[in-house]
Amino acid sequence: MDFSHRRCLLAVAVTAVAASVVTPVLLADSTTVASRGVRATSVILINGDGMAAAHREAARLYLAGLDGQLAMDRLPVSGQLTTSPHDPSTAVTDSAAAATAWATGVRTYNGATGVDVDGRPLAVLGQQAKAAGKSTGLVTTAQVTDASPAAFFSRTADRSAQDEIARQYLTFSRPDVVLGGGEDWWLPRGTPGAWPDKPAEDPSEGSRGTRGDLVEQARRDGYHYVSNAEQLASAPRGRLLGLFANEEMFQQRPEGEGDVYSPPVDLATMTGKALDVLGANGKGFFLLVEEEGVDEFSHHNNATRVLQSMRSLERTVEVARAYVATHPDTLLVVTGDHECGGLTVENTSDTDESGSAPSAEDGPFPVHGSTLRFVMDWTTTGHTGVDVPVTAEGPLAELFTGKHPNTHLHDVLARVLGI
Ligand SMILES: [Zn+2]
Repeated sequence: MDFSHRRCLLAVAVTAVAASVVTPVLLADSTTVASRGVRATSVILINGDGMAAAHREAARLYLAGLDGQLAMDRLPVSGQLTTSPHDPSTAVTDSAAAATAWATGVRTYNGATGVDVDGRPLAVLGQQAKAAGKSTGLVTTAQVTDASPAAFFSRTADRSAQDEIARQYLTFSRPDVVLGGGEDWWLPRGTPGAWPDKPAEDPSEGSRGTRGDLVEQARRDGYHYVSNAEQLASAPRGRLLGLFANEEMFQQRPEGEGDVYSPPVDLATMTGKALDVLGANGKGFFLLVEEEGVDEFSHHNNATRVLQSMRSLERTVEVARAYVATHPDTLLVVTGDHECGGLTVENTSDTDESGSAPSAEDGPFPVHGSTLRFVMDWTTTGHTGVDVPVTAEGPLAELFTGKHPNTHLHDVLARVLGI
């Protein structure tokens, strides 16, 4: 971003701060929030990994129907984000570079978490929020050390160093709440933990950490450790580590080849628990929430499981909206880090004009409340560079109006969090 653009953004931001403090804000869904005197303190950022406009539209048709609207689309402010990385060899981002742009305001190369294009460590928002006195948390259906959360809470040159990322959670960024999959990276080889090595559904899984027993270290550091839904429900307020799978909390495969989306604890439940813990801090919090299934099943062009993942995400947004309805100091943002699958939504037809696998179309799927049907068609098993929609409500949400680089999300979140 050039200097004049930055100055312009600052002016817009200052105006918006003044407006949000002094005047009531009329939201598009007819909810009036009397924001006089309300200070912005907290952020809930919800990432549908790999989710762009077609994923949202397919989910709208499937879950809400032609005249319906998803909770994520009822947020009163919407805009677009570009997702380009700063990578010498590719124009299309991965999740690590995309999340680093969000977490640091700096575009970097694919694979980097929290470091710049020269490998230099950057200030990351998860650690900065903690240093500012906020509580912090991350909730995901991926490994808790996967690229998106990793970029907010660690600095590594290579996203695949997930055991090192876990170690940095305990020694560097210290998030209060860590919920998701990825137990394999927290335990050394030969220590299976709560989730057995070589399970039938994926014999390649097994503990493989090289940084010692990090679950035990977390316990020593005051984390309450849980590994199933019952333990999570009864966990006390305070530092919380929950690992609910060896790797992702689902099995990402092509349709009919052992693909499963049935997380042992759903994303909405994990998010509700995280909000209960983090909301106890009067200084506010930063919470990153991620539905990973959208991306992983888009890589496999598996539309049935993408729609299940989108339903999980939608229920999670409903939980977050219920929270911000009674906490007007909290900014809620729903977006995706990049598009995956080159997905589009089409009419049913007798022929698939885009040919056979991997770009074969999926469906038809019913349009909710209608006799009509639609198909989901893919153009790639990789990521694409199209824009992602962003929707938001709460303090400074209006700054998401328009089209911005993904680093803009960082700039807005940093303002709300006072860092
Ligand atoms: Zn991906």
